[in-house]
Formats: sequence, structure tokens, C-alpha cells
Amino acid sequence: MTEIIGILGGGQLGRMLSVAAAQLGIKTHIYEPAANPPAQDVAAKVFTAAYDNNEALKEFANSVDVITYEFENIPAKTLEILEKITPVLPEKIALATSQDRAVEKRFLQKLGLSVAPFAEVNSLKDLNAAFAAFGTSAILKTRRFGYDGKGQVKITAPGQTEDAFISLNGAPAILEGFVDFEREISVIAARNKHGKVSCFDPGENIHRDGILYSTTVPANLSHTMETDAILLAARILNALDYVGVMGVELFVTKGGLVVNEIAPRVHNSGHWTQDACLIDQFQQHIRAICGWPLGDGMRHSNATMVNLIGEDVSHLNKNDGTGIHLYGKKDIKPGRKMGHYNRISPKTA
Ligand code: AMP
Repeated sequence: MTEIIGILGGGQLGRMLSVAAAQLGIKTHIYEPAANPPAQDVAAKVFTAAYDNNEALKEFANSVDVITYEFENIPAKTLEILEKITPVLPEKIALATSQDRAVEKRFLQKLGLSVAPFAEVNSLKDLNAAFAAFGTSAILKTRRFGYDGKGQVKITAPGQTEDAFISLNGAPAILEGFVDFEREISVIAARNKHGKVSCFDPGENIHRDGILYSTTVPANLSHTMETDAILLAARILNALDYVGVMGVELFVTKGGLVVNEIAPRVHNSGHWTQDACLIDQFQQHIRAICGWPLGDGMRHSNATMVNLIGEDVSHLNKNDGTGIHLYGKKDIKPGRKMGHYNRISPKTA
């Protein structure tokens, strides 16, 4: 029986996972290098130590029954140490696959799924050749450690390649051809250790400056595409023998669905489930990693989730009937996710 879950990372996702665990009578211990993480208000214990502090990692692993994580950039060495002591879910194959954009794209292609055209870039020569081959606008992205549009540069003309390449400071990268999408959607999918899969309804995402701004359900999608999106997500989870919740981001194009990226964790575009489903993505993740049956993620309402980014939080209307979720972050910074709200309305589709 799981009594205590260890969570790597103490940001808002770790915080909301901790709240969900508490609802199911389970405590959490947080491991986070930075002081005063958002999750500390709601966790039973916080380990403040670096990801290469072997002693602290061992103490943490020995204090919990299962370990999970709120972000995918966990060093392989850290995982190795933890896994020897306590199971880590989702397992490391999911991390290894999603930590590197080139590895991830090749994995998706092997499954027969469409991804943006891409080429590995290790030199300016590679970049110029790839840009010329694509013959269209493209985005240069670091292979690792990118999030919320960080580590990305858009290139629209050959004269821009050198500056773009220099801006990445020699980090291994890929060039991605620009996908002419109609809309962006994501599927939040869960799988338990028996292979049972449950997906929440696809949500439609709007990004601003590379950061998620809002997610709306139902997405504006044909039933056929909705089914395609769910089946595709399930295939990814099955292929990784995945246990937990995953976010699968997709571009909807005239030619069908193109996978943008996968995140082996609860996902910002799944926050609407907190107010529009009986079982939300956080509880679903806790259920999956604790060996519980998956819950029923059926949606009872339409919903729009809006992120409160930077100063947005200062202008929040606390009296307009939305479900408010604040992360307890003291310092407001541009681009920093401070909270979100969910507006729900009667279910129409
Ligand atoms: P990512 O961090 O790769 O998810 O990128 C963040 C956002 O940038 C995406 O959600 C899209 O809005 C946009 N974007 C990233 N890659 C592409 C692409 N190849 N084509 C068009 N838009 C993209």
C-alpha cells in the first residue's frame, strides 16, 4: 500500500499532485533544489538538495513508497540512484524518450505517427543545409531542456541562421520545419500498470509567446479527429509501457494530426480537468502510480482554463464565478506561471 509518494520537483505541478494525493489519504515528500517551492505548503516533507546530492537522494528514496516527477529534465544519474531503492513511475524509458527532441521524434516516427520535418543541427553548416532543404520558415530548438518556448528561435530567412545558431550557445539542436496548423490540441492520457488506458477529452490550446495561454474543451474537432487523437495517444502510452499521466501535444493540419511533443507528466493543458471532471488529471496520475484502478475522467461541463502569467495575477477578478487555482508564488515575474482559473459552462458536446 502506498502511504507516501516522493515527487521530484516542487513547482505548481508538484503542489497540485500533493493536494490530489492528500485527497486520497496519501502524503507526499518533495525533492527540490530551490528554497521555498510552491509545493512546500501542502507536502508532508521537503528535501532541499541538488539533483546530484547522492546522500540526500538516498534519504529521500528511503522515505517514500513510490517516486514520480513533475518535470522531464531529471538527470539520468539521479534516476539511477533513486530506482535502486524505490520504484520510479513513469519509468525511465519515458524520460529518456521525451528529454531529447530528436530521440522523441524518431520514436514517434517509428510508431507511424506524423511529426514536423526535422534535422539534427550540430553546426552552422548543418543548420544552413537543413534550412535550405526545408525551403520554408523553421524553428531552431535545443534538443534538451526547452520549455515554454525557451531554447527556441524562429528563422524566416537564410540571413538569420548565423544569429540563431549563436544564440543557442553550441547546445545540440534540431531544426523543425514550421507546421501550418489550423489549431493546437492536446490529449491528457493515463495508463495503469495493467495496460488500462483512459484519456480525457482533447482540449484546444492557445499559446502566446510560446507559453500556453488557454485550453478549451470541447476542442473544435470532428469526431473522427477526436478519436484519432485519443487512439494515437493510447498508442504512445502502450509503446512505452507507461504508468501515469502523459500530455500529448498535437497540431491539427489539413492533412491530419501531427505530434508536436509529449510530456511524461501531468500537463498545464490538463488543468481544466480540476473543475470539469469528477476525477482530474492529478488524481488520475496518483491512482495510476499507486496501482489503483483508473478513475472515470468523464467531463461533466464545457471548460476554459486560462493561465495567470506574470502580472495577470494582480488583475484577477476573484468574483466572476471561476474556479481559481493559485500557486502561492511570492515573486511576480514576466512569463512566470502564477496560477490559473477554470471557467465552466453546461456541457454541449
Ligand atoms: P514546443 O515547446 O515545441 O511545444 O513549442 C511551443 C509552441 O511553439 C507550440 O505549442 C507552437 O505554438 C509553436 N511551435 C513549436 N514548434 C512548431 C512548429 N514546428 N511549427 C509551428 N509552430 C510551432
